[in-house]
Amino acid sequence: MMLFEVLKGSAHDLKDHRVENPRLNAELLLAKCLGFSRETLYANLRREMQAEEKEALDELLRRRMAGEPLQYLLGHQEFWSVDLKVDPRVLIPRPETEVLVEEALSILSIPYCRVPRVLDIGTGSGAIVIALAKDVGEIFAVATDISHEALQVAKENAQEAGVGQRIRFVRGDLLHPFRPLTGGVFDLILSNPPYVCRSDIEELTREVKDHEPRVALDGGEDGLDFYRQMSRQAPSYLREDGWLLVEIGQGQGAKISALLEQSGCFSGPELVRDLSGIERVIKVQKAEG
Ligand code: SAM
Ligand code: GLN
Repeated sequence: MMLFEVLKGSAHDLKDHRVENPRLNAELLLAKCLGFSRETLYANLRREMQAEEKEALDELLRRRMAGEPLQYLLGHQEFWSVDLKVDPRVLIPRPETEVLVEEALSILSIPYCRVPRVLDIGTGSGAIVIALAKDVGEIFAVATDISHEALQVAKENAQEAGVGQRIRFVRGDLLHPFRPLTGGVFDLILSNPPYVCRSDIEELTREVKDHEPRVALDGGEDGLDFYRQMSRQAPSYLREDGWLLVEIGQGQGAKISALLEQSGCFSGPELVRDLSGIERVIKVQKAEG
């Protein structure tokens, strides 16, 4: 069979198995099997497919139809122009998380009298901290995760992106690995924590609920566990006027703003929307006192 025929059949099969964007999925999986870019695939549509290539494709299609995320099968995901390795040890970085990076860059664009110190809590694939380290001239960055396995992926991604020397990776639960210091340490603490209500996890797509790490999703009974803990812990680790920046789930803005206000340690909060108009990031500044 020629490649264009294989492509057509594969897209059809994926569609029958409820895969979204079946044509794009088929193109990317076929290109992966052949070691081609999408452009090269298009230039070779009349080439014959070899038997062993077809076998490799059928295996990937089978896994995709059973619900494995496309990005785990391809082995990577683009985030903020960085090509990140992803596999089931880490959450696949989402485009809306780029809003957090944009806000962090705007905070870090204010001139600092020394190298700014940044902490990314729950770094996963390393997406956020690697994007920052690549874009900010000078930075002292620390990235944490409770998952040892996720940190291995993040370290590899940082090396690959050429910023391995600029990020310290630390395993641990939220801010527990650090000692609170009078006057604080960090200029910016940022996090995309797990924020899905436990009872909503079963409503997520099969790609997410059956394949992405539970520890990356489960935000406790009401989804707000991590915000509660961070609003209590972060002030002791932020310098005066330092910023806390968190990604939030749809509809959580008012509750998380209230939590942060109740701590009495922050001014703000400011809510930032993503490209779909959903409140996605909350920004607060450590208040005087
Ligand atoms: N920052 C990545 C991103 O935006 O793509 C991953 C975010 S994912 C929603 C949340 C991450 O927090 C996961 O990597 C998970 O392992 C980590 N995590 C969960 N509980 C944690 C805890 N108590 N302390 C530190 N990290 C935690
Ligand atoms: N954005 C993820 C989702 O699509 C949730 C990630 C998180 O909990 N921070 O469900």
